[in-house]
Amino acid sequence: MKNSYDQNNIFAKILRSEIPCDKILENDSALAFSDINPQAPVHVLVIPKNAYVSFYDFTNNAEIREVELFWKLVNDVIVKENIHSKGFRLITNSGNHGNQDVPHFHIHILGGKNLGRMIN
Ligand code: AMP
Repeated sequence: MKNSYDQNNIFAKILRSEIPCDKILENDSALAFSDINPQAPVHVLVIPKNAYVSFYDFTNNAEIREVELFWKLVNDVIVKENIHSKGFRLITNSGNHGNQDVPHFHIHILGGKNLGRMIN
């Protein structure tokens, strides 16, 4: 069953161009833009263009081509930001235990410095 999706979440508004974003890249399936409150020198968010609440929702309900293009865009951002050789971190927060703030699936791409241990 599809999880219920809040059409008024901030990333849905970005996708409808109701609020601006600092776009990095996009393809047919996904959009990448800078996080408004960066936690590292590189902090980019990648979101699917269709409405999915979380990683679980996306992975279980998206078309396989959409999933493929989404992860391709994550890779393209890593190359564009030139963090592929020194390293980076991918994070997705999901639900209450994951402290997810925005209920539209997104991957955080973090890099540009040594990020320290995974969980403080
Ligand atoms: P989370 O849902 O906890 O994984 O985090 C949501 C992320 O979205 C946070 O890192 C915010 O800084 C970021 N964010 C919230 N609003 C915007 C916005 N308008 N543009 C870019 N990033 C945003």
